[in-house]
This record gives sequence, C-alpha cells and structure tokens, in this order.
Amino acid sequence: MLVYPKWIPGEHAPNGPIVDVTGMRFFANGKEVSWRRDTVDMYAFRCEIPAGVETLEAQLDYLLPVESSGANVGSATAQIAELPWNLVVLYPKDASSDDVKFSAKLKIPAGWRYATALPVTKDSGDAIEFETVSLTTLVDSPVLAGAHMNTYDLSPGKIPAHHLNAAADSAAMAEVPQEQIAILRQLVAETGALFGGRHYRHYDFLLALTDHLQPNGLEHHESSDNRVPEKTMHDADILETQMDLLPHEFFHSWNGKYRRPAGLATRNYQETMRDELLWVYEGLTQYYGVILAARSGGWKPGGLREYMAVTFARINARPGRTWRDLEDTAISSQLLYTAREGGSSWRRPVDYYEESELIWLDVDTLIRERTGGTKSLDDFCRGFHGGEGSDPKVVPYALDDVVAALSGIVAYDWKKFFEERIRSHGPGAPLAGLERSGWKIAFNGTPNEHMKSEEESGHVMDAEFSLGFSVHYPGVENADEIADVVWGSPAAKVGLAAGMKLIAVNGRKWTPDILREAIRRAKTTKGPVELLVENDEFFQTLKIEFFEGERYPHLEAIAGKADVLGEIAKAKAPRQ
Ligand SMILES: [Zn+2]
Repeated sequence: MLVYPKWIPGEHAPNGPIVDVTGMRFFANGKEVSWRRDTVDMYAFRCEIPAGVETLEAQLDYLLPVESSGANVGSATAQIAELPWNLVVLYPKDASSDDVKFSAKLKIPAGWRYATALPVTKDSGDAIEFETVSLTTLVDSPVLAGAHMNTYDLSPGKIPAHHLNAAADSAAMAEVPQEQIAILRQLVAETGALFGGRHYRHYDFLLALTDHLQPNGLEHHESSDNRVPEKTMHDADILETQMDLLPHEFFHSWNGKYRRPAGLATRNYQETMRDELLWVYEGLTQYYGVILAARSGGWKPGGLREYMAVTFARINARPGRTWRDLEDTAISSQLLYTAREGGSSWRRPVDYYEESELIWLDVDTLIRERTGGTKSLDDFCRGFHGGEGSDPKVVPYALDDVVAALSGIVAYDWKKFFEERIRSHGPGAPLAGLERSGWKIAFNGTPNEHMKSEEESGHVMDAEFSLGFSVHYPGVENADEIADVVWGSPAAKVGLAAGMKLIAVNGRKWTPDILREAIRRAKTTKGPVELLVENDEFFQTLKIEFFEGERYPHLEAIAGKADVLGEIAKAKAPRQ
C-alpha cells in the first residue's frame, strides 16, 4: 500500500492536497499494473503487484492551483514557483519518514534561479539533482524558484551560513534594501544571543514576494517558506504588518522543529497529529517573533507598542471566550485554519497565537520580577531550545517538561499558572503580564499606527472598537463587503452581519472618510449613524446608536512602573 502525505508538519491539519493528485499510474518491472484507492483512507492506494517484482515505478501529476485557494496549498505565479515536496511524493504505508529515502530531481524554467536547504549534487542546467535524503528531510526542504531572485548573506564569514533568498514577480521588488538586510543580520545575531546553540547546518529564508499567492509562512528546520505581498520590502505600511513573519518562522527552527510537542512529533505524515500544545509551539513563537522583530530593530519601541495595543485589545474583547477556552482553539486548530473570517469574535479563530503572547509575557515578567531581574524567559529558551548545537533533529516534549524547565529557573506552580490561563472563560484576556511590563491598554480617538498600516495595506476599514465592524474598501476585491462584525457590538445589535454590502452612510455613498466622519459627528449630535446596506438583493437602513466617537487602542505607561517591556525588547546582541 502506498500513501500520499496527509498531515503536513507546521500546517497542523490533515490537509495534504490529495484532490489535485492526478495522472497516477504504476509500473512493475516496466509493465503497468492496476491500482485501487482505499475506500476509507482517501490518501492510500493498493497496487496489484505480480510475484517476484522488486521495483514499482509510480507516476503522478500535481495540478498546481492557479488561484491562491488556501493558505497551505503550494502554488506558483508566472514568475515564481514554490515547491513543497510533499505535493509530489508517495511512500510505503506505515514506514517511518526517517527511514524512507528519496533522490529528487527537478527541472525549472530556463533562466530561473532557485534556492533550497536541500543539498544539491549536480546542476546540469537541464535538471537539478539533489542528495539522497530521508523523506523527513525532503518534506522539510522546499524549493523556491523564480525569474527574479536575489540572495543575500545574513551572517558573512560565519558558520553556519544564513541566507535570504528573495524571489519576486518583478526584478525591482526582488531587490531587498540594505536597511532590511541589516535588520535580518541583527535577527541572526539576536537568535545567537538568545539560544546559544543552533540546530541546523545552514539556514535559508525563502521569501516569495507576490500578490498572487496567499500570504503565509511555513517553518522548517533549515529554511522557511514565506509568502508576502510583492511590495513588502519597499512599502512601509506592508512591511510594518509583516515585520514579525521572518523572526517567527526562524524561531520555529528551535521551537516547533527541534523541540516539538510529542503529539506533533509523528512517525510519518499519515499519523494523526494532536494540536493541544500549539499555545507553546505557536504561542511562544508568536511572542518571540514579535520580540525579536523589536530586538533586531525592525519594530521601533513605539511600533511594537502599537502592534501590541491592537493585538491585545482584540484578544481581550473576544466574547467567544465565554464558551470556548484558549486550549480548545489549539485542540481544534485543524478546523480553525480554514474557518471563514465572519463571526471570528464569537467563534474564536486560532487565538493561541496572539493570546499566548500575553501568556508568555506573563511568564517572562513573572520570572523577571521573582528573580529581581537576573533571569528571564530567555534563560528558559537557552536551556530548553538552545544547548549544544546539532544537525536537525527532533526532541519531543510534554507540558510537564516545559513546567520542569521553568521551575528550574524560578520555583513557581507553573502547571497551575498555565491551566488557569488556557482553560479560562474570562472575562477578558490574561493582561497581568502586560501590566507587570509597565503598560496598560487605553482607548482614545487617535488612530493606532499599526491599524493604519493594516488598513493601508489590506484595504479594510476597521471600526471594530467603535461601531463594531470592519468593511472592505470600495473598488478593491470584495468591495464594500462587511468583513466581520464583533459579536454583541452596537453594529451586531442592529443586525449588521458579515457578507452584507455597505452602500451609504447617513444618506451618502460610503467611503472610509465619510464613515469615520459620521462616527465622529455622532459623538456631538447624539444622532444614530445610518447605514444603508445590501443583503443580496434586499436593502435596509440600520441605525446604530453609538456616541463615543472613534476609538483606537494604545499602550499607556502605568505611573510609577518601570518599562520592563522596553527592557525585554532591547537588542541583546552587539549591533551587526
Ligand atoms: Zn508559526
């Protein structure tokens, strides 16, 4: 029996794109043999193999999606191709992915360049031949190829080597400004200062700059597959919203790849993964992705605070917490990654990313407080994830191992600490760490800078903290469509719902400026904001009574408290 990879590491869901596997044929000693799919397991195939046959040849095609049809489907544009090898392999059922060996060969369009962490043995110009590796290494080492690609050395003269490989839909956007290279060099140095040991032979950031693939990041031991808008490296607003992506995926090499929850350290890609510790795997990574973006100079202290203000304000206001605890968002992540945007405040999407930033900030500040500033969460990372450097390998852990390692730094009932937070039904998010770091969330009418960047780059107007909804700009994809409505908000109370279209505000064709002005005016006039909306072919006017004006979150210093957040976010390595 042969199988097609179903549970792809880092995707946390059984989403191997089997539906796009086509043209499958099998040959035993050169003679075609018949095959039949298992009637229960759609990823398994049985061949009729005559006695005495030792070699079975399989052929298959993979229909590369033209549209970006999901975050995790490998795809290509006219100028860029991303190839995760799991798209095109079959392997014997029940085999360990460490034991099955593959020798891969790849042809790319003439004149294209490519980058991958997979060692190359021969590049004849016609085809690239790769070293024979285990299936584990193959699936861990995707290839990025493109017509316009530049490679930058991020740790010149040092071992292990680190490179940024940037492929874009245009030659100009594949040029990464020196300022950004300096930030990434600092990032490499900061991970050295944080962990000590590294668990890769070399590291390649694969960066696809295109508006035609779904933005995404996927971690690997020795590389990461990052997909961002084409202008990311040349547009301050887009860059602001993507600043923590590369630090996040890089941190995963230690947290997620080298150290991995036992439930995710499976023998092969058919075995069910258990996602309940994603608040460590993704949550700690999310925290350090953000902190490393600041330590490496990507986010200035003010930018970090604006990011945190909006992120934490959103999480703090999740009404869905009353029925679903944080741990359940992790356990059910295999469902939540593909959940639609509407209803997110009541459903709760993959909240174990952002809410866990608060939990780990809580841990970090608690350690600092209880050790008089001599120890921090960095010490946990150094011991748990760093240690002696090594080649890529997986060291699984259970929650008890995390608890024990933290207890080794400072005695505390960490198990209870985590349980209280991951099983909480609120009200509100765990904000104690934010306050211990010297800051609290405060609202006023001044726009949040991070939200402004989100709006400029995403073209979605965000009135979630006032009227309680967000809406796609006119003239863009999904124009005028209500993106989401906060459960229980003033907008929800009058019946506004995701998917409706906003036509007019107070009798005038809507634009973001007109809507903002209407929210501001209602504060003085105490009259409702009238929205004319289209629900399929039916129109209605909704009157929202909200008189507090525009509301945006910021972090406000708590009087008399030290800026511990500033200390956490400071560079720890010498300037590169
Ligand atoms: Zn991640």
